[in-house]
Amino acid sequence: MDYQVLLYYKYTTINDPETFASEHLDFCKDLELKGRILVSTEGINGTVSGTTEATNKYMEAMQADPRFKDITFKIDAAEDHAFKKMHVRPRKEIVALDLEEDVNPNELTGKYLSPIEFKQALESDDTIVIDARNDYEYDLGHFRGAVRPNITRFRDLPDWIKENKEQFMDKKIVTYCTGGIRCEKFSGWLLKEGFEDVAQLKDGIATYGKDPETQGELWDGKMYVFDERISVEINQVEKTVVGKEWFDGTPCERYINCSNPDCNKQILVSEENEARYLGACSHECATHERNRYVAKHNISEEEKAQRLENFKQFAH
Ligand SMILES: [Zn+2]
Repeated sequence: MDYQVLLYYKYTTINDPETFASEHLDFCKDLELKGRILVSTEGINGTVSGTTEATNKYMEAMQADPRFKDITFKIDAAEDHAFKKMHVRPRKEIVALDLEEDVNPNELTGKYLSPIEFKQALESDDTIVIDARNDYEYDLGHFRGAVRPNITRFRDLPDWIKENKEQFMDKKIVTYCTGGIRCEKFSGWLLKEGFEDVAQLKDGIATYGKDPETQGELWDGKMYVFDERISVEINQVEKTVVGKEWFDGTPCERYINCSNPDCNKQILVSEENEARYLGACSHECATHERNRYVAKHNISEEEKAQRLENFKQFAH
C-alpha cells in the first residue's frame, strides 16, 4: 500500500478558475498525481491518487493556501493509482445541481452531524434519512432504511423531492452522500424549499466508515466510488451484500456498463450473465449494431442469435 487516494472539496471563492485550473494541473502533474478536479468560482472538488509521499505533499501545499486551510481530506490507502490521467477542469459548479436560484452553502446549509450523531439519527424513528446519491450508487450499498431517490443524475434530485414532498414534509430530514459535497447544496436547497429540520452527514460516508466510534455500522453493501476501484468497504463490523444481479436477482457487486454505447447504463451483472446476454441491459441494447461485447469477443452472427434467445426468460 504505497499509494493514497484523496477525496476532498471546499466551498470557497476562487476568482479566476481558468487560470487556477491550468496552474493547478501543472502542480498536480509535477507531483505525478492522477485524478479529476473541478474548480469554479464557488470552490474546488477533487479526487486524486498518487504515491503516499506525493499525496502528502499535495495536502500540505493545499492547507498552506489560505483558501483551503481547513479543507478535509478523506484518505484511502491503495496499491496503485485509481485513475489513468490527470484532469483539472473549470466548471460553472463544482457539483452540477443546476438550480434556477443557486444556493451558497457558506450562507445556507443543513446542520452538520458527526458520524456518531448521524448514527443516532439513523436509529431514531422520527427521522427520515435521504440518500442524496444516484440510484446505481444506492443499489451497491447504502445506510439501512435510507430513502432511495429514483435518479441517475444529481441535478434531478430537487424535482424528485418535489414530486414526493408529502413523504418528507413536517419530518426531520437527514441527508448523506459519498464525501459530503452534494449534501452541502442539497440540504441548503431543502431549507429554501420550506423543510425546517434538515441535517447532513459531515464529510460523508467515506468519513463515517473510518470513524472509530461508528466503525461504519448500519451501512450495508459497498460504497460506489467514481474511480477505477468502483467500490470500497465501509462497514468494518459486518459485511453484507445488497447488490442484486440485473438478470437473476442473486447477490452481486460487479458493475458493468451496458454494451450498447448509446445506452451505457451501469448494471450489476455476473460474469456468466454478461456472456449470456452479450453484456447488454436489454434485448434492444444487445441487438445494437455497435454492441461492444459482440465486437470485443468476435461473436458470430449465429452465436449472437443463440444468445439473444436468452432474453426470452428475462422479465425486465
Ligand atoms: Zn442498455
